[in-house]
Amino acid sequence: MHELAVTEYVYNLVRKQAEANKATKVRKILLEMGDQSDYVPEIIAEYLQVMGDDGLLDGVKVEAKYLPSKVLCRDCGAEFTRHEFDGTCPKCGSENLKLNRNTDFLVKSIEIE
Ligand SMILES: [Zn+2]
Repeated sequence: MHELAVTEYVYNLVRKQAEANKATKVRKILLEMGDQSDYVPEIIAEYLQVMGDDGLLDGVKVEAKYLPSKVLCRDCGAEFTRHEFDGTCPKCGSENLKLNRNTDFLVKSIEIE
């Protein structure tokens, strides 16, 4: 389960934010990740609730917004998002393309009380 490492990162970050804001509860965490990262928000939420042994993260919701991977045309240099991608460059029709896998992962925002 590779969510564990990323959950530790989220946990430390969220805990720091919560302490800085004197929060007693974290309600929601919004993540942003590339569409080639395969982290499952529900599993991250489960791990977080286990890690937060003081109730800070009880019932926390984890949502994710997915960012599309980019495709680069090696012939004309055009860059476009993967959902527009049908095997050829939309600008020049070339099939000489490179997929830049988007595996970004970041904590976009947290909701506390
Ligand atoms: Zn092209």
